[in-house]
Amino acid sequence: STPATTPTPDQPTERSAALLEQARAVTPGGVNSPVRAFRAVGGTPRFIRSATGPWLTDVDGNRYVDLVCSWGPMILGHTHPDVLAAVTDAAGRGFSFGTPSENEVALAGEIVARTPVEQVRLVSSGTEATMSALRLARGATGRSKVVKFAGCYHGHVDALLASAGSGVATFALPDSAGVPESSASETIVLPYNDLAALEAAFAEHGEQIACVITEACPGNMGVVPPVPGFEEGLRRVTREHGALLISDEVMTGFRCSPSGWFGAEASASIEADLFTFGKVMGGGFPAAAFGGSAELMSRLAPDGPVYQAGTLSGNPVATAAGLATLRGCTPEVYAHLDSVARTIADAASRELTTAGVPHTVQWAGSMFSVFFRDQPVRTYDDAKSQDTGAFSRFFTAMLQQGVHLPPSAFEAWFVSAAHDEAAVEQVLAALPAAARAAG
Ligand code: PLP
Repeated sequence: STPATTPTPDQPTERSAALLEQARAVTPGGVNSPVRAFRAVGGTPRFIRSATGPWLTDVDGNRYVDLVCSWGPMILGHTHPDVLAAVTDAAGRGFSFGTPSENEVALAGEIVARTPVEQVRLVSSGTEATMSALRLARGATGRSKVVKFAGCYHGHVDALLASAGSGVATFALPDSAGVPESSASETIVLPYNDLAALEAAFAEHGEQIACVITEACPGNMGVVPPVPGFEEGLRRVTREHGALLISDEVMTGFRCSPSGWFGAEASASIEADLFTFGKVMGGGFPAAAFGGSAELMSRLAPDGPVYQAGTLSGNPVATAAGLATLRGCTPEVYAHLDSVARTIADAASRELTTAGVPHTVQWAGSMFSVFFRDQPVRTYDDAKSQDTGAFSRFFTAMLQQGVHLPPSAFEAWFVSAAHDEAAVEQVLAALPAAARAAG
């Protein structure tokens, strides 16, 4: 079929550029989340005016196939009619009550039904979810140290902003200013996929470690699946030492499979003590969650001593969007995501091979990353050794041909249920020139 829009290498960007200028005067860097600024790839970030299905339309009238999907949440595509109807209905009945409300119960029920958690507490962002899970783990164990893995991002929580992948990698900061030493010193950062390093850390600090937090499948240094045995090792070592295991499924949860959690697909189906969710479960609105056994969750206020709260937690509009989105995530949707993602990734790999560009594609369900290096990526150091210049040239050529990729070499690419033949055709048509530009 014919691409829905003609690729326009000389697309206008005047309005986006003017808005960026205005934005810089009132907002640091002109953006409300650093990676949106295109610092790693260069060029003008597009200010998007509207989005529907797989398409983004910017303020200059350019149309792009969206392979970011708001960094994961828009699994059904933009402005899906069922989600829009649910949101409109909820908003018509009030924006925020500050009391318990029906949708919260339904959304929590949906999460509990699909994942190993018995109870969840709803919050408004993935950062809040991991921050609260960490507090709960420390409260429950009476210990203070936390183990995280280099390249895993768990939001901008002080204790977890060490070797934190994408955003930080993009800006080449080893850490963030403003994180006190006292906070960072409680965090032990280990190489991902390295069980020996984990065992050594527990041999030395085991008595003080409250928890190990890991992305169920890291997506924030690009997609880096756990090697066979790593997850099992995490479970075994944490149990042996009385530490809790937190599986951060903010990115993978409800994205990778109908079962809701990435771990369900692993051969050994490792169950963590606490899980965090976000992105898809909010359907594009601010909603996230953390959960675990009823016993562990009972340590939270109002029943227990671990305090956690939120003015907008369980917001009726956000929970309506999340609920409609999760209900729309049928097995057929996941089958479609898998097939679209395979088509795009295979074509990208073919064109990069033709252009002689070293690359590797890695997967978590339908999430994938194209690394610009020819060896598999198992650790953050591996990910950092890719040719980010080649990625930037590839990214720019794709953008100019109407394909919006994540603006960093350390990110996952996402597709949606709405990515149809026309959208896929437009991506495939853009790949040859982009691969040549990268080479
Ligand atoms: N955890 C993971 C695995 C994430 O990918 C992210 C965001 O990208 C977060 C936590 C933080 O979520 P939020 O940006 O909603 O605070």
